[in-house]
Amino acid sequence: MQILNGKEAAQSIKDALKLEVAQLAANGKEVPHLVAILIGNNGASETYVGAKVKACEEVGFKSTLIRFEETVSAFKVLETIRDLNRDPDVDGILVQLPLPEHISADEVITCIDPAKDVDGFHPNTIGKLVLGQPSFIPATPYGIILMLEHYKIETKGRHAVVIGRSNIVGRPMSILLSGSGSYGNATVTICHSHTQNLKEICATADIVIAALGRPGFVTEDMVKEGAVIIDVGITRIADETRKSGYRISGDVDFPAVSQKASFITPVPGGVGPMTIAALMKNTFKACAVKHYE
Ligand code: NAD
Repeated sequence: MQILNGKEAAQSIKDALKLEVAQLAANGKEVPHLVAILIGNNGASETYVGAKVKACEEVGFKSTLIRFEETVSAFKVLETIRDLNRDPDVDGILVQLPLPEHISADEVITCIDPAKDVDGFHPNTIGKLVLGQPSFIPATPYGIILMLEHYKIETKGRHAVVIGRSNIVGRPMSILLSGSGSYGNATVTICHSHTQNLKEICATADIVIAALGRPGFVTEDMVKEGAVIIDVGITRIADETRKSGYRISGDVDFPAVSQKASFITPVPGGVGPMTIAALMKNTFKACAVKHYE
């Protein structure tokens, strides 16, 4: 069994980006600029946005964090996004989810200029993805593809089971794996909360992508000998023995499943860092397009 080390793979992607950014700067060109919008004080969101801003610093991007109170109006958020859409200095815009109940995530995402949609959630972006046209790829599925690429894990002709059908992870993941792009051409089954015989289906998978947010859901009896296991889940579980008061759990029962897997991602340190590396790649791409206009 080999651990798919997301920290290492992400670092090699960021190192390569850092060189490209330095090259842009040396040629007197603008470096990428990512703007993140954070609403409220959700602890997990703070952590994710903090990690994204830190990654920008690491690779040499400009970054701006715009914070709003939990009570901010939808109008104010949309107005801010429209200003950022018009600002030529801004290459990528992301709004950290989840949003307070009074703000529609659909409305916010749709307001982002698709050319700056580095999270890859805009309907235009997803539409292009489905059609196999060049577009941004949603950061988490893109990170998983980059991970497969880094470890040279073949997907062609293999059976991939994706558990979870969210618009940000499961569904785009299933589209990429079933598409004809590199690290596609798999036969894909997508499972969700209404799937019957999930255990039996999962046991036929060569590649399992678990993205449902149920700690330890994928157990050893659900996994074929030699399967590749990608654990997307991140759930905070109260743990008084930790200084933070919680520990992070993935969707896979790692100790048992790792005994059968050929490759497996840990949580943390697997898909999480790859998601951030993918976001950096998308932001670089959004900026690079400007230099070729
Ligand atoms: P979501 O809640 O939007 O979707 C969960 C999906 O799982 C749904 O489609 C649902 O049908 C399915 N599901 C729920 N219970 C199920 C069950 N018992 N059996 C089968 N399917 C079931 O979640 P999401 O935004 O896709 O995130 C999923 C997990 O991935 C969460 O733990 C989240 O924190 C994590 N996540 C991690 C990253 C990362 O960078 N590592 C990024 C995004 C999300």
